[in-house]
Parts: sequence; C-alpha cells; structure tokens
Amino acid sequence: VPFVMNCARIVPHHVFLRSMSSSVPTTKMFINGQFLDSKTKDWIDVHNPATNEVVTRVPKSTHDEMEAAVKVAKDAFRDWSRASILSRQQIMFKFQQLIKEHMKDLAHLITLEQGKTLPDAEGDVLRGLQVVEHCCSITNLQLGETMPGIAKDMDIHSYRVPLGVCAGITPFNFPAMIPLWMYPMAIVCGNTFVIKPSERDPGAGMLLLELLQKSGCPDGVVNCIHGAHASVDFICDHPDIRAISFVGSDQAGQYIYERGSKNGKRVQSNMGAKNHGVICADANKEQTLNQLVGAAFGAAGQRCMALSTAVFVGESRGWIPDLVERAKALKVNGGTEPGTDIGPVISPEAKKRICDLVESGKKQGANLILDGRDVSVSGKYSSGNFVGPTILTGVKPEMTCYKEEIFGPVLVVLEVEKLDDAIELINSNPYGNGTAIFTTNGATARKFTQEIDVGQIGVNVPIPVPLPMFSFTGSRGSFRGDMNFYGKAGIQFYTQLKTVTQMWRASDASDKKAATAFPT
Ligand code: NAD
Repeated sequence: VPFVMNCARIVPHHVFLRSMSSSVPTTKMFINGQFLDSKTKDWIDVHNPATNEVVTRVPKSTHDEMEAAVKVAKDAFRDWSRASILSRQQIMFKFQQLIKEHMKDLAHLITLEQGKTLPDAEGDVLRGLQVVEHCCSITNLQLGETMPGIAKDMDIHSYRVPLGVCAGITPFNFPAMIPLWMYPMAIVCGNTFVIKPSERDPGAGMLLLELLQKSGCPDGVVNCIHGAHASVDFICDHPDIRAISFVGSDQAGQYIYERGSKNGKRVQSNMGAKNHGVICADANKEQTLNQLVGAAFGAAGQRCMALSTAVFVGESRGWIPDLVERAKALKVNGGTEPGTDIGPVISPEAKKRICDLVESGKKQGANLILDGRDVSVSGKYSSGNFVGPTILTGVKPEMTCYKEEIFGPVLVVLEVEKLDDAIELINSNPYGNGTAIFTTNGATARKFTQEIDVGQIGVNVPIPVPLPMFSFTGSRGSFRGDMNFYGKAGIQFYTQLKTVTQMWRASDASDKKAATAFPT
C-alpha cells in the first residue's frame, strides 16, 4: 500500500488507504503493519452526511482476521514492553509532529464522513493531538515509587508495568480525538493495541494509523479491525485482551462494561450525557448567550459535552428572545463550505430520531419557539441530513425531550427560581458528564462547583473538557469503571503495579537461625 506522505496534497489520502477494486473504495484493516483488504462478504456503507453519497465501504472483519490482529498484538507485546521508555517516547515526539503536519488532511476526512465543519474537525484533531503531546512526558508519568529502609537492610520499590494487549471501541462523533485518547496512552506505557473504530467514519483513524507507522511504531503494536456488534463481542470475550476502553452510547457502554468485566478485563466506559448550562441573572449577558449558542449547536449538537439543556435562573429568563435571535443567525450548510456553523447530523435515522424527540416535546406541552426540522440546504447538499437550530422552552423534567439525550442541534430550556432549584434539577438527572454555570459572583460559582454531582464543571466555560494533564471524567450514568481517560488516571488504567521488596545484607551479617514467625 503506498504511503500518503509523498503524494500530491490534492489527492485525498483516504483513497490510498482503501482498495479501489470495486466502484466504491473500501476501507482496509491494519494488521501487523499491513493495510489489508478484508476477505469478508459483509460490508457497511459509509455515507457523506452532507450528500448521502457512499464514500467508502467498511468490512465486518472475519473471525480469522480479528484473531490474527490479537495474535500479532500479543506477539508484539514481548519486544514492545521491553523496549526502552526513551524509544517509545521518541515515537510519540514524531507522531505528534506528523499529526500537526497532516491536520488539514485529517480534518477533510472527518468532514467527509462525519459532517462537522472543517474548523471544528481541526479542533477534533487538536484535542487528540494534545493527548499525544502529553504522552511525550511518559518518562515522568510512568515513574514508580521507592521507600528505602522499610526493615533492616530492606527496601521496597514499585513499578507501573503494562498489561498486555488492550483494545479500544470508539464512537462516530470524534473520529480522531477519541482513538487518540486511547492507543497513544496505552502503547507509550508498553502495551499493544487493537482498535475498532466507529463503522460510520473510520477514515481519519486510518490516516492516523499510517502516521503512527511513519513515526516508527513497530509492526503489530497497534492493529485495526472493523465491524459492528460481532467485533465488539469478539473484543469483550477474547482471553488475550486485558483491558477495554470504550466511548459511545449508554446501550453499548453498559453492555461492553458488563460483558468485558465478566470476562475479567479492566473496562473504562464513557457514555451518554445531558449537560445543563445554568444562566444566572448576574452573568455577562453577551458572553453567556454566545457561549450557550456555540455549545448547544456547534457540531450539530453531536458532542458528548454539548450544552443541550439551558436552565435560566430567575430574571435571566428575559434573555431567551435574544438567545433565539442568535441561534437563528447560524448558517446551516455542508461542512466544507466556508462560513458554515452547523453541518449535517450523521444519518437520516439520526435526523428522524432528533425530529421525533422535538415533536414529542411539542406534544407534551413544551413551546417550539425555533423549529429547524424543515431547514433546506440547496444545491449539492439538498439530500443531506440537515437539522437547523431548534429551541424548546417551557420544558419540564418529566418530558421525553428532557429525559433522553437528543444528540442534535436542539436546545431544551427550563426555568427555575433559585440556584438551589437548578442544583437539585441537575443532581436528579441520571447523567453526570458535564455542566456549566454562567455568573459573575464567585460565591455562587463556588456553591455550584461544591454541590453539583457532575464530573466536569465549567465556570463561564461552556464545554469544560479537561486538558490531558488532567483526566476526562464524568460521573453517575455517564461513566462506568474506576479509572478515567488520559491524565494520571489514564496511565493507571493502562498499567498495573509491581512491587519489589529486597534485602541486601553483607555476607558476614547472615542470620544464624531460620525464623518461622511472621516478622514483627
Ligand atoms: P454507539 O454506542 O452507537 O457506538 C460506539 C461504538 O460501539 C461503535 O464502535 C459501535 O460499533 C459500537 N456499538 C454500537 N452499538 C452497540 C451495541 N448495541 N452493542 C455493542 N457495540 C455497539 O455511539 P455513537 O452513536 O457512535 O456515539 C454517540 C454516543 O457516544 C452519544 O451517546 C455520546 O454522548 C457518546 N459519547 C460519549 C463521550 C464521553 O466521553 N462520555 C464522548 C463521545 C461520545
């Protein structure tokens, strides 16, 4: 398979990663350093969400192909886990450099298959790149601990050692960032990896693997299989896979957490969300409304940290008409078109689900004050899955549109009298991924951050995704497991502790008699 590096930049890179043997290019697997065609007869079409044209076909890898991927990862573990930490670090230095150089190519692949706007797609790559940059400090991150003199002539030290073969299962909404939350952390600690990208947009992930290979990563260290449920079951059940990282919906996440754990694996599972933005009357109005609109409708609302629920406290409810005006001004169009604010949602099924949830809100008594369901985008995007910005006000906690994650450009608006009511509302919601408060009062902000039971909190920051020296958290219904993604917790997830207790005593100081009692 030719590498993309020396190709003219006008040729889309993904073409080289995919077989051109049929009229529609097919996405390859990556096993033992080879980009391979699958022998399967079972394929999944990937559509450009802006046009609904098929851009590639993704194989459901066969059982033998998936077995081969795990076997080579297991074989590669022996040498890779013993490679010097400096050599692993060097690969990360090179990898981050190549990602930067190919930022625009990666973004184009994301927009082609996922639909988000090009600037937003670059953000997708950047937030993953930051994790790779964090991995460059592995020489500090993987340090163990030492305690000398725990008894006469005796010391203890601990190492953080890799687990073996780890696996990742990723969602469609961040095709670059989320794979980059996983295998760079895993491999820099000395593990090997099998990734199964979202079957809906694997292209950017494939280019990242090519860049990783170009960075000098040895064959077999990271491998990629494709598919849907059968590949997920394979990962959950395979005895040689020691840990699973999952990001995606509740249904899949709970299933994978339970099936993987039952089979003795470590599992970290980031799932769905319903993130509330609390708007206090003392907030900076201009800044708050702009942040709210960006965080509710950006990426067509398909972010797990989207602020999909606005809670206006007291007098701030008077700002709702201004909010609607700002939302109306957003431009809906294909993600490659300059000036686009909102691209398409991932599929016609997703569009239908979003529209049905909006309709349910209307039927259950909410006011549909901005309806984007019939938005029209003309010309070459007339068949795309577009939904314009939509706002439902007067929403109550018992309504389906509040209870379910809509995952589209829809903002549901609730009103409460006091901050305590907002806190109670949020803490009663089953999800605990992210939340934000908008206020100029420090005491209000402090009370909120102390009392709210949500993993990631923003104060005048609408999408508080932590940088990789911290960890992506999430609590209650949004996360299962006990070690989060990236940061210190990510290193803990991909390593286990080994302790060594040693005694070095001069030979003339040997004990005269065997001790049978436990040392006191
Ligand atoms: P998804 O669960 O449909 O797919 C994620 C992965 O799981 C895919 O690789 C898919 O093949 C597999 N999968 C899907 N259904 C499955 C099933 N029933 N059994 C086994 N495997 C299955 O998720 P998605 O639609 O691609 O992504 C959107 C969801 O992901 C949203 O709910 C969003 O909130 C969530 N998400 C969460 C975070 C977070 O960090 N909390 C980040 C991004 C996305």
